[in-house]
Amino acid sequence: MPNRRKFIQLSIASLPLLASCQTANTNNTQIYKKPVVVSTWDSGIRANAAAWKVLQQNGYALDAVEEASKYAEIEKSCCVGLAANPDRDGKVTLDASIMDDKGNCGGVAFLQHIQHPISVARKLMETTPHVFMVGEGAEQFALQNGFEKMSDQLSPEAQASYKKWLEKSEYKPVINIENLTKPQSQTAPNVLENGKPNHDTMGTIALDANGNLCGSCTTSGMAFKMRGRVGDSPIIGAGLFVDNEVGAATSSGLGEEVIRICGTHLIIELMRQGWTPENACKEAINRIVKRNPEKAKDFQVGFIALSKKGEVGAFAVQKEFTYSITNNEINQVFESKSYF
Ligand code: ASP
Repeated sequence: MPNRRKFIQLSIASLPLLASCQTANTNNTQIYKKPVVVSTWDSGIRANAAAWKVLQQNGYALDAVEEASKYAEIEKSCCVGLAANPDRDGKVTLDASIMDDKGNCGGVAFLQHIQHPISVARKLMETTPHVFMVGEGAEQFALQNGFEKMSDQLSPEAQASYKKWLEKSEYKPVINIENLTKPQSQTAPNVLENGKPNHDTMGTIALDANGNLCGSCTTSGMAFKMRGRVGDSPIIGAGLFVDNEVGAATSSGLGEEVIRICGTHLIIELMRQGWTPENACKEAINRIVKRNPEKAKDFQVGFIALSKKGEVGAFAVQKEFTYSITNNEINQVFESKSYF
């Protein structure tokens, strides 16, 4: 602990720096022992379980986060993968990204017919000189690498919600706040009428027993999006960023808002300057809201972050953004603090 004199000296010397980061380090953040995995949303607890199988055997964080995403991509009750809601032309298009402890990364976007976009992103990262592939080219790459071409038949739930959406064909590029703020009696607050969560992203960040950080993010994107629209999730520095010296961060919610501020990259850079994960997430949310406070009342964005030491933080625009933490001591869903 610095003594008072040293502290004052430090304060004076760092005045210009402190002026620009008044909220840094105001929290005493708990440290979770490694290995530890954190995912977006309450459904993340099940994705964490898939990651935990790897982590508890001292496995590699990259394998763990890939397993978490793969689990989400096939889980019927979840919100990502081929069973999820389609775009407004009735086609399911998937986006995913992955990043390892060495700064390697891969992303795929506007990918159809492939069950595990996260594994295509990993394959791209590990076997090509590239970091991002989209659409037909990404599909071709997947098929050439042994991924199976799946049918583009919508799942029964997605078919039903698409049919309902077609009645009005109302294009609303927002995460459905009505369902967040006005839960119906038989529906959980973050669940749509068809029983699917009103969010479409599973982001997972993990610190393994060897102290390596990796992350993954997978999504079907916004329900009934314009054909070809891509959100933040497959974009490195927006929906996912990892720096093994500092931490890892991922997001869920209205991707356009996250892209505009390079959300997860911003969070990691703030953490590098000493901000706690929670305060870094909060600052990213503040920047999003500040751009347009009125509009922000109608959308959701949530960030989660994990530091190299094992501190976890989250912050969201709206209430009811949840996240799940799993390690040897805890397996729990938390509700994030929020701007509104
Ligand atoms: N972030 C995703 C996107 O904008 C959607 C979501 O999280 O619901 O594509």
